[in-house]
Amino acid sequence: MHNVIRKTDADLLLTPNFSDYEGGRRHFSWEDERQRLAGLPGGGLNIAFEAVERHASGALRDKTAFRFLGRDVPAQDVSWGELSRQTSRFANVLRRLGVGKGERLFVLAGRIPELYVAVLGSLKNGTVVSPLFSAFGPEPIATRVNLGAGRVLVTTESLYLKKVSRWRDKMPTLEHVLLVADEAGSTTAVSGTLDLASLMALEPDDFELEATGPEDMSLLHFTSGTTGTPKGAVHVHGAVLTHHATGRFALDLHREDTYWCTADPGWVTGTSYGIIAPLLHGVTSIIDREEFDAERWYGILEQEMVSVWYTAPTAIRMLMKAGAELARRHRFPRLRFVASVGEPLNPEAVWWGKEVLGLPIHDNWWQTETGGIMIANTPAFDIKPGSMGRPLPGVEAAIVERQEDGSVKLVDTAGKEGELALKAGWPSMFRGYLHNEERYRKCFADGWYLTGDLATRDEDGYFWFVGRSDDVIKSAGHLIGPFEVESVLMEHPAVAEAGVIGKPDPMVGEVVKAFVSLKLGFEPGEPLRLELLGHARKRLGAAVAPKEIDFLPTLPRTRSGKIMRRLLKARELGLPEGDTSTLEGGA
Ligand code: ATP
Ligand code: MG
Repeated sequence: MHNVIRKTDADLLLTPNFSDYEGGRRHFSWEDERQRLAGLPGGGLNIAFEAVERHASGALRDKTAFRFLGRDVPAQDVSWGELSRQTSRFANVLRRLGVGKGERLFVLAGRIPELYVAVLGSLKNGTVVSPLFSAFGPEPIATRVNLGAGRVLVTTESLYLKKVSRWRDKMPTLEHVLLVADEAGSTTAVSGTLDLASLMALEPDDFELEATGPEDMSLLHFTSGTTGTPKGAVHVHGAVLTHHATGRFALDLHREDTYWCTADPGWVTGTSYGIIAPLLHGVTSIIDREEFDAERWYGILEQEMVSVWYTAPTAIRMLMKAGAELARRHRFPRLRFVASVGEPLNPEAVWWGKEVLGLPIHDNWWQTETGGIMIANTPAFDIKPGSMGRPLPGVEAAIVERQEDGSVKLVDTAGKEGELALKAGWPSMFRGYLHNEERYRKCFADGWYLTGDLATRDEDGYFWFVGRSDDVIKSAGHLIGPFEVESVLMEHPAVAEAGVIGKPDPMVGEVVKAFVSLKLGFEPGEPLRLELLGHARKRLGAAVAPKEIDFLPTLPRTRSGKIMRRLLKARELGLPEGDTSTLEGGA
């Protein structure tokens, strides 16, 4: 299974930014990276200045920064010049309302231009911004606004009426609600709100940026809620160094690219890499307002001539489920680099990319807490399908064991499991969990940030994901990572998705139980169940293979697309489901 996908120059349409892994790491420093950015005129650092202003006053003024697509609306191109003017107007609105540096603004909207303007405009004003998934219900919205002491909310008229207005008194800090009209024109004078377009029309389109520094707070992002109640991770303007470096190293962004990040800004990927990184590199981004649709997505890759594509395993699994036939009706001659994040990428999916898109998929690993990509498969080295790659320049990663006395011990043996840790201090490291100082402190020991993920490192320095420490199964003295079992199930032609849990058992501690959903054209039933059990036992051995397999039409997942094993487990055991605010399809 651990075959290698070799990189050859013939695979590449462009000279990659990063081709010498060892040399690139040796010569990298964050100080040099800082020099690649402009910095604010009076000193200081601001994400929006680097992403927007720097280019808007130069050669990229008229280049398309964002191209918005939607089913029932014409495509809309926004240039750097236009983005600069709009975000300045927005920042002026905030200043006029008396909203300043460090105060919190939430955005609740689909992927419409106003969301992007609000995020970047807030950053210009030094206001801390937190984009929320538009599909959130009233409860998760209020919880997050309250946790962040939100003073301003930017949302659409219909979302406001449906999800906010009746709960407004539950959000005592919320002073200003800025509404975007559902259709062109202004909003219908909803009481207690202000019409954003009218306010912006009154403001000048230039703005003197707030003097922010690298340690000033920029974004507040909530974790996905895969393992429990989402945590609010605090980020700073200095994170822009990581966004810039990783855009080069892990996404291989070049000026001539057309880039599509499929993540919603409600998830950190949709902000760090759906907004900031491509803007920093002067790259045109595609933004699709619609939800996943296999046919539509292949169409966008083809028609928009996407060259760099950043997506997630859940989307890849859904494309695989839809069948290769659909893909073959499309051509992707300009596509040259595909990357994925969010969950482990099964080797099957990496190979699928090679077969169907003509390119392997580059898995990379990071978290809301890390603010940017930390470990990645890059153009600079061969891919070992199933591995999340190697640490990027400027990032030191290790496998460690926590000791009783609170210190950590480095695990040097290749292939030995332990907790994945990062040497603290990279620029986009989170600076706190909102209102949870204790939990934040517990993430650090001996100068390392402990990620809560279990992994191994091989003799070539590649990292392999084993599972989240909460998800790992202890069975008859073995530690079993769900990913390994899920990947083997995915090798079977009938399986579209698999989620594996440990089910308490008096004899062995826990037994391995799998839930699978099937590809089109396959029927659940006893024969298939036995076949899958047999396949897994052959590949994994009796100690690790699942003892039970259930079929489900789809697996529960977060809005960022991650399989929620804790829900599979709670449902299996008849226990309370816990926080389901991020459950896809939930309220
Ligand atoms: P919560 O912390 O609320 O439970 P979450 O951890 O899913 O949610 P995110 O910050 O969105 O929230 O996700 C980061 C986690 O996603 C990582 O810690 C890891 O478990 C998983 N992950 C991300 N990328 C990869 C990858 N390439 N391979 C394996 N796991 C990944
Ligand atoms: Mg997490």
